[in-house]
Amino acid sequence: MIPFEEAFRTIMDSARKLETEEVPIEQAYNRILAKDVTSDMDMPPFDKSAMDGYACRREDLGNELAVLEEIPAGYVPRRTISRNECAKIMTGGMVPEGADCVIMVEHTKKITDSTIVFTGKETKGNIRPKAHHVKKGSVVLARGAKLTVPRIAVAASYGCAIPLVSRRPKVGIIATGNELVEPHEKPPFSKIRNSNGYQICAHVASAGAVPTYYGIARDTEQSLDGMIKTVKAANDVIIMSGGVSMGDYDLVPGLLEKNGFRLLFERVEIKPGRPTVFGVSDEAFCFGLPGNPVSTFVTFELLVKPFLYKLMGHTFRPPFMPMLLDHDLTRKKADRTAWIPVVFTDNGGVAAIEYHGSDHIHSLSKADGMICIPMGITEIKKGTTVHVRSIQS
Ligand code: AMP
Ligand code: MG
Repeated sequence: MIPFEEAFRTIMDSARKLETEEVPIEQAYNRILAKDVTSDMDMPPFDKSAMDGYACRREDLGNELAVLEEIPAGYVPRRTISRNECAKIMTGGMVPEGADCVIMVEHTKKITDSTIVFTGKETKGNIRPKAHHVKKGSVVLARGAKLTVPRIAVAASYGCAIPLVSRRPKVGIIATGNELVEPHEKPPFSKIRNSNGYQICAHVASAGAVPTYYGIARDTEQSLDGMIKTVKAANDVIIMSGGVSMGDYDLVPGLLEKNGFRLLFERVEIKPGRPTVFGVSDEAFCFGLPGNPVSTFVTFELLVKPFLYKLMGHTFRPPFMPMLLDHDLTRKKADRTAWIPVVFTDNGGVAAIEYHGSDHIHSLSKADGMICIPMGITEIKKGTTVHVRSIQS
């Protein structure tokens, strides 16, 4: 058994970066950039009006101003603004030479067909200066960044129409267990439905990788061996659920080894999730996750997800929210780092919810997040700041 931190390091150190590919920007949402994006222009590219109004000289604000021309967005001004002159200008329009401010149209009055006066008391400049946001040639998005919504906008702004991104890992998923039936079936007495196959598919997709579900392997050498061979041949990563603890039918670690995987660990000091297996081979990686559905979730979230991102060159930093614990929290044993489900409370804090242990996935479905109780800690007092890891995304 190894500490969680060591398991994490072992996994992350094993990751090999995948190849890259180009994708059209409209399909690049949430992909991981494989190359810096550099700006090919200043932003704004010229002194730009922030308002609809009149561009003029601040020193002339008390005077009647002659309107020389109209400057819509996308037009290059022809005239220079001199004493007691102005140009009508639209938001995004190019501020003409000579002007040092734009007065808002709401603060003006028309005097004749070709003159106006300023009716306000004072005005801001309302000019967004050239290169204020970004200078041409600077890095606007770094390699390894996830192309979130604002980053898609930035990529588009600087002409990155076909970003170079990391290939998405192909992940083959196998559920194991003689007791399992698929969700469309009503389980006969003594059997249960396979939920892990599907939570893993969803979790893989949420991490930006490509899941393929291969079905249920039975707890026999023959069934597991055949399935592992098929999945290994077509994927970068195999994820299996179940069959990794100490029971007579827990054959998964042995068969992963038989299929060329070197197992780097088989047990981790974490609750839930102790019997977690990780292995490497030249062609693929494998995870054997414990079968209890909360254990499957927690080990995926803490170990598999950062690994899948690392294959794509991205450092996954889970969002944590610091919040005050609403009540005293105690536990009897403190031999492992534990994760428990919590909900946000009406008074702005956080509280543990009813949780019966690692098979109680229903509890997780109601939770807003999870908190960690470190190894060696048996009690956390009401009012302590705890860090909530969000889980419903
Ligand atoms: P195992 O890790 O195979 O010993 O399984 C531990 C517990 O998780 C057992 O109660 C299994 O029935 C349950 N389990 C295993 N695989 C699944 C699955 N795919 N979906 C739901 N529960 C499972
Ligand atoms: Mg089993």
